[in-house]
Amino acid sequence: MSLEQQLAKVEDVADKTFDFVIIGGGLAGCVLAARLSENPEVSVAVLEAGKSHINDPLVSIPDGWMRQAFNPEYDWLFRTKPQSRVQNGITTPDAKPNPSFYWSRGKGLGGSSNINFLFWTRPSREEVDAVEKLGNPGWNWQRFFKAAKRCETLVETPVSNDPDYLDLFHADSVGHPVSLSMTQALAAYGIPVIDDALGGNLSGTFKCPNNIDTRTGTRSTAATSYLYPALARPNLSVLTDAYVTRILTSKEEDQAVAKAVEFKHGGGTYAVKVGREAILSSSTVKSPHILELSGIGNHEILERLGIPVVADLPGVGENLQDHLILANPTWALKPEKGIVTSDTIGQPEIAEKLKALYGDDNGGPLYFALSGCTFIPIQTFSDRADELIAAFEKKLLEKADRLPVGLKEQYELQLKMLKDKNVPDIEIVVFPINMQPGSFDTPFVGLLPSIGHPISRGSIHAVSKDPEVQPEIDPNYIEEDLDLELLVDALKFVRKVASEDAWKAITSGELLPGPDVATDDQIRENVKQNVSTTWHACGTCSMMPREKGGVVDPHLKVYGTKNIRVADLSTWPLLSAVHTQALVYGIAEIAADVIKADNGI
Ligand SMILES: Cc1cc2nc3c(=O)[nH]c(=O)nc-3n(C[C@H](O)[C@H](O)[C@H](O)COP(=O)(O)OP(=O)(O)OC[C@H]3O[C@@H](n4cnc5c(N)ncnc54)[C@H](O)[C@@H]3O)c2cc1C
Repeated sequence: MSLEQQLAKVEDVADKTFDFVIIGGGLAGCVLAARLSENPEVSVAVLEAGKSHINDPLVSIPDGWMRQAFNPEYDWLFRTKPQSRVQNGITTPDAKPNPSFYWSRGKGLGGSSNINFLFWTRPSREEVDAVEKLGNPGWNWQRFFKAAKRCETLVETPVSNDPDYLDLFHADSVGHPVSLSMTQALAAYGIPVIDDALGGNLSGTFKCPNNIDTRTGTRSTAATSYLYPALARPNLSVLTDAYVTRILTSKEEDQAVAKAVEFKHGGGTYAVKVGREAILSSSTVKSPHILELSGIGNHEILERLGIPVVADLPGVGENLQDHLILANPTWALKPEKGIVTSDTIGQPEIAEKLKALYGDDNGGPLYFALSGCTFIPIQTFSDRADELIAAFEKKLLEKADRLPVGLKEQYELQLKMLKDKNVPDIEIVVFPINMQPGSFDTPFVGLLPSIGHPISRGSIHAVSKDPEVQPEIDPNYIEEDLDLELLVDALKFVRKVASEDAWKAITSGELLPGPDVATDDQIRENVKQNVSTTWHACGTCSMMPREKGGVVDPHLKVYGTKNIRVADLSTWPLLSAVHTQALVYGIAEIAADVIKADNGI
């Protein structure tokens, strides 16, 4: 039977009872579906709003994300509430200036693991331990590291004989040529090349792995690696095009009990019955939304929308944190260096040559992915690190009595990480990709800094009881000055790095922001005009004690409910500086262990 044939039909699911009903077949949902259905005695249903995307070249070709973005079959195309402090011309293709941001999210089996940029990074030890300190016993580095490694297989990569690379890297860790110049330029600032960034210390520069299977040249997703191999199991039913609208509950001893999950499919409305648990794995945007549609959230918001309150839980949709990236610092590449960028690959004559060499296949030996990662602490990139830290500490002390307890504790941990030179505060991404083709007539590369631990907090809330109306996303970008000042100093640092000979050897000058952006005020304005999301938002169903604003306990159980859990990035209460997919695989693996243990299965 083909994989397509192994998918469920609506009649296999509607009105039937499953031990576990997983809402969302994205990254975490696929992991949970595979792990929970390992026990043949346990029945599992997955409801995924998008398509299956089985054998879909836009997913399997690694650089297919460039064509998935803004395509509604693959991308939810969420939009934020207009932001008052920042603008963005990169992820808002229809108009500039336009203060609303597109928030891409993967739709279909595999979720955002289908559409992401393939960076594979793991948080710092201190970042994971901070989550335990927020009141979550057991969520520490040691346990996380062990669980997070279960999703990995290292496939040997072709070896480069380029002598430049052999000087600096293990032969099997070769990245984009621009990264080499960047590494050499960074060395002038004492930034080390590290060879074990996945081991809990990522302060430095390194070639980050990609989730590409080099045997086939195709993207590895949560669907290809977890779900598809499990799809033939008779105890696993996966229904696509199933848009979950709410969880139907009853009340027992003051707790909400999930009885069924309601969904829309092919024009009809159906329900699947919950035997043991309903598990939300619908992303940072949709998990809090579905909770609110189900009557679980801040009673004031629910009452205003006419949604009957099932559990009053004010933390739902709060504590939203997102990595903000400065998206415009760009340098022209010297054409004679022949460095490949996304623009070069797209040129018809080059495309023809590649096709002749490699054929028109799903990736093959040539794929285009990103790998240049640099994570650095404030002490390295900012000339006024002490001043900025002291200002934040002072503000924290002044506001301490007025801050919600959970947020105060998060800020104290963030302050500790700022002071700790081992914990990076920004990332600089080498970005040889043109998000606006045709904008320059020369090949170019970006050096884009992003904030690791934003201070600003936003929210995601339902604005209607109609489940078709998407929630209001308010990332509240740059509400806190420090977020802005970190990006100001990061741009200055990136420019310093670019003035090094190693960088100048391959580039012929700064294209953006260019010489008109020189003073601090001009730099500040440039930052405000050119930031973007990096699609790593977390926190809207935070794992924290209830009295501190938490939504789920350390077993990922939603407070006030008997059998509803959340397992996805929304539960992570304090954003880590890294790209988040490997983090979510770790969260989902731990979630599977916890759910199995709690149910004795
Ligand atoms: C454009 C982009 C680029 C990224 N780049 C990187 C990168 O390079 N490296 C990295 O580490 N991370 C990256 N990420 C982040 C990473 O992919 C995510 O953090 C991770 O996939 C989140 O996993 P999740 O399970 O929480 O949510 P998702 O993987 O988004 O899964 C949520 C699933 O729920 C489904 N769903 C939602 N609502 C409903 C509903 N009502 N009914 C049924 N199903 C529903 C969705 O369709 C989706 O399949 C990127 C993300 C994006 C969007």
